[in-house]
Amino acid sequence: MTLIANNIANIKNKIIKVQKSLNDRSVTFPKLVAVSKRQPQYKIDESLSSGQRVFGENRVQEAQHRWKHLRPEYPDLTLHLIGPLQTNKAADAVALFDVIEVVDRSKLAKILAAEMKRQNRHLPCFVQVNTGEEPQKAGVMPGEADEFIRFCREDCGLDVVGLMCIPPADEEAAMHFALLREMAKRNDLPELSMGMSSDFEEAIAFGATSVRVGSAIFGAREPHP
Ligand SMILES: *Cc1c(COP(=O)(O)O)cnc(C)c1O
Repeated sequence: MTLIANNIANIKNKIIKVQKSLNDRSVTFPKLVAVSKRQPQYKIDESLSSGQRVFGENRVQEAQHRWKHLRPEYPDLTLHLIGPLQTNKAADAVALFDVIEVVDRSKLAKILAAEMKRQNRHLPCFVQVNTGEEPQKAGVMPGEADEFIRFCREDCGLDVVGLMCIPPADEEAAMHFALLREMAKRNDLPELSMGMSSDFEEAIAFGATSVRVGSAIFGAREPHP
């Protein structure tokens, strides 16, 4: 077994352990989104060899470079966009990705909806919520989330399946996970994308249906170019 395959197996075991402790048979196995941004290709190849097929990237161009030519080889790939999306990259994002996790403002929602129609690719979307109300972070403010979710679904016709958040680095993640869960529940949204390398177990305990794990699988990332 390669190191990467071993890391993935370990994380899956941890996920199973948390799930068992929850004692809730209705809970389905959370999706493990392997965050491949700024990781060397050989590590991604190792994860593909081990059977990993769901990946997260935060930049459209970087993701195109890595995945465009791999797509034909792995038709069962699922690519999640997990980083902020500029409207001028929306067309490329719709063409490449399978899930858009970062819908967070009306201009972007409108443009994504138009692109999906144009390309006839109706992708599942998450609304990103800035649960910590951090000025530098993407995401709709919690107080505006309900109306924004309604806008995305009813006015734009987006297929909103769930909510996504990145809790502030210096706060207890638990209260943010609980807030997101509550928000999803009252809006009838089944999916919760929350939890990263340091807190995916806690996120699952709060009902995460997918976790985004990078460094715990692939190790430290290369610096930004
Ligand atoms: C980079 C990134 C991750 C992965 O972070 P790790 O701590 O390496 O697991 C998860 N979610 C988002 C939105 C990211 O940008």
